[in-house]
Amino acid sequence: MGVGESQSEGDVILIPDNARRLSGKRNFLFDLDGCIWFGDRLAPGAAELVSSLRSSGYEVRFATNISSQTPDEIADRLSLLGIDASGGDILSPLRVLPFHEAFSGPSASVYVVAGDTVRRFLTDAGIPVVDRPEHASAVVVGRSPDFDYDDVTASMAATDSGARLLALNLDMRAPGPDGRFSLPGTGILAAALAVAGGVEAELIGKPSLHFFETGLSVFGFSSDTTVMVGDSIDSDIMGGSRAGLMTILVGTGLRARENSADELVEPDIAVPDLAALGQYVGQLQDVP
Ligand SMILES: [Mg+2]
Repeated sequence: MGVGESQSEGDVILIPDNARRLSGKRNFLFDLDGCIWFGDRLAPGAAELVSSLRSSGYEVRFATNISSQTPDEIADRLSLLGIDASGGDILSPLRVLPFHEAFSGPSASVYVVAGDTVRRFLTDAGIPVVDRPEHASAVVVGRSPDFDYDDVTASMAATDSGARLLALNLDMRAPGPDGRFSLPGTGILAAALAVAGGVEAELIGKPSLHFFETGLSVFGFSSDTTVMVGDSIDSDIMGGSRAGLMTILVGTGLRARENSADELVEPDIAVPDLAALGQYVGQLQDVP
């Protein structure tokens, strides 16, 4: 069988040789939106899969690009839907932000172009949020419905003085009340601030290496025993793969896509849904 071909075993599509690799894994990172949950309901089989992995001794954590809620709030939402979790189980742009090297110095501080949740989280993490942008070591940009001319002026003053520009995500569009992606995303705000300051915006969320390396470090996981499961080639599969994790694509089937750097990104395994992955994991546990 040649490279890129796959074989089908029932509902589970797997690339030969990667089946064996999964048996050596100990830790699973699950994406949330479009993987563990769809809006306000769990994906079919999600609770059963997490429960069966946990009772078989696997470590389960959740890796999401949600930055409008704190890790504690995201964990509460998961628990309400039926999967027990604490804030410590959640990897998110806010969770990894304080670990960025822009904040490694003793006098690190931040100018925030985002909502109160981001301000509150950074303050709680011990990073002073400043009102004088020229004193900031970084500008953090996130979801900001009140974004205006003053934000651009302040961000320019900060980056002109050497501040890094950190974007919680680079999504160009955000969902509106009807669920359609009809609102400006953080990527548009970050692009405006980057052009204004003549700097590049550094991505904090998936698929950045910072996101995954910080996650492995805070969870105490090694890359070769960790699996990233998600529905997005561009964030979950690309990010996991760059960080050296095994990757499982859920939902959209096996497909490959080239990004702007002509980097070919393919998942190691593709499954139609989490219920199928559950059956697969159950079978693998019988493999010596
Ligand atoms: Mg997703």
